[in-house]
Amino acid sequence: MLVHLDPFVMGLNGLISCFTNTVSELNIITMRQIIIGREGNQPFAINDEYVSRQHAIFTYDERTGLMTLTDKSRPEVGTFIRMGNQFQQITQCNVDATTDIRLGPFFTFRVGQLFQSPAQPQQPSKPQKPKLEKIDIAYLRKVAENYEETKLKLEQKQANINSLRTLSLVGSLAAGAISPIITNMVGKDVEIPLYYHLIGPGIAVIFLVALMMYCSKASKDIILKKSQNDKNYKISFCCPKCHVPFAGKLYENILAEGKCPKCKVEFYDSKI
Ligand SMILES: [Zn+2]
Repeated sequence: MLVHLDPFVMGLNGLISCFTNTVSELNIITMRQIIIGREGNQPFAINDEYVSRQHAIFTYDERTGLMTLTDKSRPEVGTFIRMGNQFQQITQCNVDATTDIRLGPFFTFRVGQLFQSPAQPQQPSKPQKPKLEKIDIAYLRKVAENYEETKLKLEQKQANINSLRTLSLVGSLAAGAISPIITNMVGKDVEIPLYYHLIGPGIAVIFLVALMMYCSKASKDIILKKSQNDKNYKISFCCPKCHVPFAGKLYENILAEGKCPKCKVEFYDSKI
């Protein structure tokens, strides 16, 4: 028993089965057989519901060149070959590459099509990755810089006001001390009018109240500006696309990460 696999058979990837008859040493008979049907091994697909799973068998005798078609379907469906302008039902007959065949009432093909390479199954096209857009986040650096700058300025102002408060206390004490100094300068023998004694404490109180009022107003102003600065920063320092907040992160780190942790949009800095 010898199985002959020539390139043609190999080329059809085993779709065409081959078998050998009993052979004598001098006479190798190679037959090719193709099962034609919805589940056949012909090189094209058949999806016609009137065609049986194994509708017909095509046999090709390589030695003699003889091609035979044998019907395997139910007689009411049938296999037909074209004779002139008409199709004629057959159970078995010889055909050639130009014979037109009809399986059942509709499906037709030409015998030559059985020798074509099977259609390559369509590679399912890879789902195209949606192109990720890139966003310039250079302005975020400015946002962070402005925030830090304003924060620093406000802190400096607050420190100044705190110093002023201390100064006002010292000043008030000093003013309060004016009265006894004046009294001493004038001398104990001279009678000093009562309002003289009140000059020092009076100035001190006015000075203190004025400064305290100023400091309190300035402090409130700073607190307001600070919270406004924080608010602006939190609103502006975020992903330009999905607005996930970056507050607290260093701009350099955001840029180094290269993309938004949430929406994955890619970042770049046009000014670098
Ligand atoms: Zn985002």
